[in-house]
Amino acid sequence: MFDNILTDDFTPPKTCTVERVTAVKHWTDTLFSFRITRPAAFRFRAGEFVMIGLMIEGKPVLRAYSICSPTWDEELEFYSIKAPGGKLTTELQHIEIGDGVLLGTKPTGTLVHDALIPGDHLYLFSTGTGIAPFASIIREPETYDKFKEVILTHTCRTGAELDYGKQLVADLRKDPLVGELVGDRLIHFTSTTRDETQDQRGRITDLILNGELFEAIGRPILQPATDRVMICGSDAMLRDLKQIMLDKGFTEGSNAAPAQFVIEKAFAGEGV
Ligand code: FAD
Ligand code: NAP
Repeated sequence: MFDNILTDDFTPPKTCTVERVTAVKHWTDTLFSFRITRPAAFRFRAGEFVMIGLMIEGKPVLRAYSICSPTWDEELEFYSIKAPGGKLTTELQHIEIGDGVLLGTKPTGTLVHDALIPGDHLYLFSTGTGIAPFASIIREPETYDKFKEVILTHTCRTGAELDYGKQLVADLRKDPLVGELVGDRLIHFTSTTRDETQDQRGRITDLILNGELFEAIGRPILQPATDRVMICGSDAMLRDLKQIMLDKGFTEGSNAAPAQFVIEKAFAGEGV
């Protein structure tokens, strides 16, 4: 059981602060999102991840989580899996408004604007909870200063697993702060791999290679001269998509050496 109280006299681990849950929404049996308070001193770049966790049986249990919020948000939003038997999420899925959550003090990551050189179109390829860092990127005004168009793709096994992303984009279009800036410059492409839905059918890797993605969005095929790419998903998805990018002549970037595409794991694989 986790300690949801974390009273004012509780001393968190050195690299953490204690924050309070302000909202929780369960999207499916295996996915939920939540918001927590944001310390005044907490700064991050859109697309970064941070350690978050709980005190479980007297010990801190912390895991990497992408920050879904844009940098201008007064709170911090996260989107989480409920991993079967997972040490953190078995408890985290039960958080309620007012509960205490540990928040790391040092956000970091490669899915940031600083790791890409300028281009016309920004492609954000995600599977499963890999949409989380892009929830931040698409809500960040800097994204629209740097790119003419942003194409967010989200592929999941089932239709219900796409709902968080669909709500996110619908809310963004109506947002009083950035909705107008986003306008029709954000394209949201969704596909499922196990469910027959209104969405496109198939893995994003296949839809890139067979051209169906570009046909569906009415844009030219990916090319390094004009396009920049961020990728977030499972180890297997990253491996396959990275190979496609390399085959197309894209160069991988990093914070130290910005280039044409960047990748980050949405989670560490089985047994890691
Ligand atoms: P763990 O013991 O950590 O994981 C158990 C098993 O569950 C894993 O072996 C894996 O097969 C599976 N699993 C774990 N996380 C996921 C996932 N997100 N999607 C599908 N399967 C998964 N998780 C999030 O839910 N949201 C995020 O924004 C997020 N960002 C991350 C960013 C980075 C850079 C990394 C490395 C991981 C991220 N994760 C994210 C995964 C997260 O760190 C934990 O693995 C997750 O919270 C489960 O923790 P756990 O202790 O319950 O189970
Ligand atoms: P996931 O297994 O990474 O799948 C997310 C999406 O990515 C799916 O549409 C999947 O397509 C696709 N994908 C997988 N490998 C790919 C690759 N190499 N290239 C391109 N696309 C790829 O994530 P998840 O569905 O969130 O499941 C995460 C973990 O939970 C896994 O370990 C899984 O075994 C377990 N799990 C999930 C479910 C569920 O319903 N989500 C159910 C039982 C167990 P495919 O469908 O074609 O693989």
